[in-house]
Amino acid sequence: MGRVRIGQGYDVHKIAEGLPMWLCGVQVPSDRGFVAHSDGDVAIHALCDAILGALSLGDIGKHFPDTSPEFKGIDSKLLLARVLDLAREQGYHVGNLDITIALQAPKLRPHIDRMRACLSEIVGCPLDCVSVKATTTERLGFVGRGEGCEVWAVVLMEQ
Ligand code: MG
Repeated sequence: MGRVRIGQGYDVHKIAEGLPMWLCGVQVPSDRGFVAHSDGDVAIHALCDAILGALSLGDIGKHFPDTSPEFKGIDSKLLLARVLDLAREQGYHVGNLDITIALQAPKLRPHIDRMRACLSEIVGCPLDCVSVKATTTERLGFVGRGEGCEVWAVVLMEQ
């Protein structure tokens, strides 16, 4: 086996009414969604940062500035594909990944399998190497008040 590198990513997006809610490439039915320059897929953003972090390639803001019109409203799946290209240039692919989403509502359980399937396809690793978990914060803090969504991602990159 070649070298392995671990990376972690973290992101938060604010919640507002009337916006789409994208998580892990899947649209979650909700009358509220994420405020963002892109499509607001906070989970994919955290995953991108984990991959970039594993390879010491900076962060998502460096590669895709939120001041750039090129990335306005962009599908975050495209950002992830670009990050995976950067990893591939360094000879790395995703070994496995693990994502934790903290969101008060709606319940994400019915959507988790679709999220895993979506990420598995983009990242190009088997379904059993793609973990997506969801939790509430027991109504505590900004997540608990429904003001935002917080996501942590950990990834192992293999050469
Ligand atoms: Mg973000």
